Amino acid sequence: MNVPFLDLKAAYRELRTELNAASRRVMESGWYILGEEIEAFEREFALYCGAKHCVGVGNGLDALILILRGYGIGPGDDVVVPANTYIASWLAVSYVGATPLPVEPNPETSNIDPDKIEDALTPRTKAIMAVHLYGQPAEMQKIVAIGRRHGLRVVEDAAQAHGAASQGGRTGNLGDGAGFSFYPTKNLGAFGDAGAVATNDDELADRIRVLRNYGSRAKYQNEVKGINSRLDPLQAAFLRVKLKHLDEWNERRQTIARRYLEELADVPDLKLPRAAEGAESCWHLFVVRHPRRDALQQHLKEAGIATLVHYPIPPHLSGAYAGSGWKLGDFPITEDLAATVLSLPIGPHLAAEAVMRIIGSLHEFNG
Ligand SMILES: *Cc1c(COP(=O)(O)O)cnc(C)c1O
Repeated sequence: MNVPFLDLKAAYRELRTELNAASRRVMESGWYILGEEIEAFEREFALYCGAKHCVGVGNGLDALILILRGYGIGPGDDVVVPANTYIASWLAVSYVGATPLPVEPNPETSNIDPDKIEDALTPRTKAIMAVHLYGQPAEMQKIVAIGRRHGLRVVEDAAQAHGAASQGGRTGNLGDGAGFSFYPTKNLGAFGDAGAVATNDDELADRIRVLRNYGSRAKYQNEVKGINSRLDPLQAAFLRVKLKHLDEWNERRQTIARRYLEELADVPDLKLPRAAEGAESCWHLFVVRHPRRDALQQHLKEAGIATLVHYPIPPHLSGAYAGSGWKLGDFPITEDLAATVLSLPIGPHLAAEAVMRIIGSLHEFNG
């Protein structure tokens, strides 16, 4: 039996009755853009995050773009981003015309190193984008304190962190505005593209509601040059079903992570993920490091175990940023992570026997 990286069909199977009923409800309603289903999900997800507002949008990248636009960030502005992140965090900054200002991670947590942020600031810096990478909250207390000290907005890229928490509460409630993705593989995943912004800022929520819908509050009155990025009611209905199961499904991930942490501690050369002080990961990914990563990945593959690399090419070395002046060696910690990280299977439907097999196979590796 092969072990898949993530089993999305099993997620559907577990909730099939509820999901099919939700789908039927939307289809029978005759209402397919915005409306009650969106409003209900927005209320429920805001409550879940402990945030005052949630605004449903088309996807996670748009959520980040709309937060930056909502704060008037654009050409001539700089935004601090983690050097080590999925490229979407950078692309949101570039899309609004601002410039990403990359900061190296703390190698222990893989998240942006707060102690390196102040050195990177420029007179044009307007915001810090913190990413809760792999489901582990960034060190938000320190980051928010730096933001306050310098008059900067603090944006959370919470695309991998539904239900993760730190001293300040749940993600989505730890900065000025948070972008969530409900891409199917995320901890709270839709059955297609979907995203949301969570915020306690009344004005930001209002601006994003207008921006996501052609800059319009009332039909054919376009106040600003908005876009079309509305959460789909069908996806909202599915997300309402899955939100009720999110804590339980995150607990299943936690159980697997604990098992990995206990039983892989003595594998030679294998470095296990470590959460920052006071941070509660939602274990979107379980990312280990190994100096002979490619050989380890091959060994697992031969045992029928699927793994992935998050991420093999850091944004500053990607084609998208060729010509921006960055080169190999600019962010050595990030580059070292890209060369050594490996994501083991984890998810709410990964069987205990599969976890045992993965652990066994890692112990057998002597590459
Ligand atoms: C998935 C993801 C996004 C983008 O979400 P989409 O819904 O795919 O647009 C942004 N940032 C991070 C860190 C992500 O993992």
